[in-house]
Amino acid sequence: MSGLDPRAPLVLDTHELGRRPGSQRQVSRTVPAPADLGIDVLHVPEGSPVDLDLRLEAVMEGVLVTGSAHADLEGECARCLEPITDEVDADFQELFEYDDRDHGREGDLDDDVRRLEGDLLDLEPLLRDAVVIELPFQPLCTDDCPGLCPECGARLADDPDHAHDAAVDPRWAGLAALQQDED
Ligand SMILES: [Zn+2]
Ligand SMILES: [Zn+2]
Repeated sequence: MSGLDPRAPLVLDTHELGRRPGSQRQVSRTVPAPADLGIDVLHVPEGSPVDLDLRLEAVMEGVLVTGSAHADLEGECARCLEPITDEVDADFQELFEYDDRDHGREGDLDDDVRRLEGDLLDLEPLLRDAVVIELPFQPLCTDDCPGLCPECGARLADDPDHAHDAAVDPRWAGLAALQQDED
């Protein structure tokens, strides 16, 4: 009995490994990103391609998954809210234990342990964790983004010299006039 769909893009079948410790399989596939992969301000758009390179290796306790994921990111600058794009490369390694393995304990299975369901394993939670770890808490359009003007909300990177004081520096008045002439 398995609750996993063997045809789901992020579900892997380990049947070929035959539970022989040392047997390996390389898997390269491109899968559509699941919803909500990443964080609110920076995420992999749902359905966009995620390139996976994986090695599945049977060990005594289960199947060791070692791999990397690559995907494009969309989000917005935490300071100026400008849309930004980026890429993420996430590496991961995790042991999925056989689900019928005797753990010598009754009932209190460790929730931190990932398990196979029959021959199938679900890569999605692992992928989510690996991607989120790679993301900055505060994505920025540029490292020194000056953010928004606290008075009018203008994006300061577009208009670094803008000011609200009526007192215009006389040294700039001439330049401003020149610019107006050009317009
Ligand atoms: Zn910015
Ligand atoms: Zn302003």
